[in-house]
Amino acid sequence: MSSDHLFPSQGSTSLRATVHAWAQLVAPLSCAGCGAPDVSPCPICCVTLLRSVPRVVHHPLHVPVIAATAYAGPARRLVLMHKDRGRTSLATPLGAALGAAVRKAVVAVDGSVPAVQLVPVPSRRMNLVRRGRSTVAELAQAACRELDNGSTVESVLRVCQPLRDQVGLTADQRRRNLAGAFVASRPAHEAARGKMPVVVVDDIVTSGATSAEAVRALEASGYWVVGVAAVCGPRQR
Ligand SMILES: [Zn+2]
Repeated sequence: MSSDHLFPSQGSTSLRATVHAWAQLVAPLSCAGCGAPDVSPCPICCVTLLRSVPRVVHHPLHVPVIAATAYAGPARRLVLMHKDRGRTSLATPLGAALGAAVRKAVVAVDGSVPAVQLVPVPSRRMNLVRRGRSTVAELAQAACRELDNGSTVESVLRVCQPLRDQVGLTADQRRRNLAGAFVASRPAHEAARGKMPVVVVDDIVTSGATSAEAVRALEASGYWVVGVAAVCGPRQR
């Protein structure tokens, strides 16, 4: 039965309003970043996210690691609501911020931004099953739309060994947990080697262990990795 049958048009305005208000009580819509009512995300959180200046995160990697903003405040809440609460509409503003980080990673001296292949870091299988989607791939697609320069998303990385949850592990433990954990499902096309730059993308970078393993796995299969970009990085000290 469609909603039109539930809400006949004749004399139904107050019924609709009542049901809408009731639905809001059961599952109220609010900004995932700041809690403002009836919008998600609110314009203030969107502008705050998009105005943040991407910065280099210092990691012992041979390619730059860029984060659009710090993992704090509304940005942190937006990422978590997108990732674990199924707020898929947040992919657009978060992906735009990710696109800005990608741009900073690859911008040429003359200011031009080449088309790149965005490779999302892979999720553990249990997380893919639990969420029913690859949240980082969603952000990568939104970043491509933001870049609007022919960049593509290539989801070629797979997890190839059992992984512990990274939460609560030290940086050393994370590195050991992730050593050899990723593999590219196909090698770089011969024609793209050394020509089509690759940027690894993620929602959050912390210790950099995940980024390092992603870069290692891609380079082992002939990909030309020029940087890592994330929505959120460590807070500035
Ligand atoms: Zn907000």
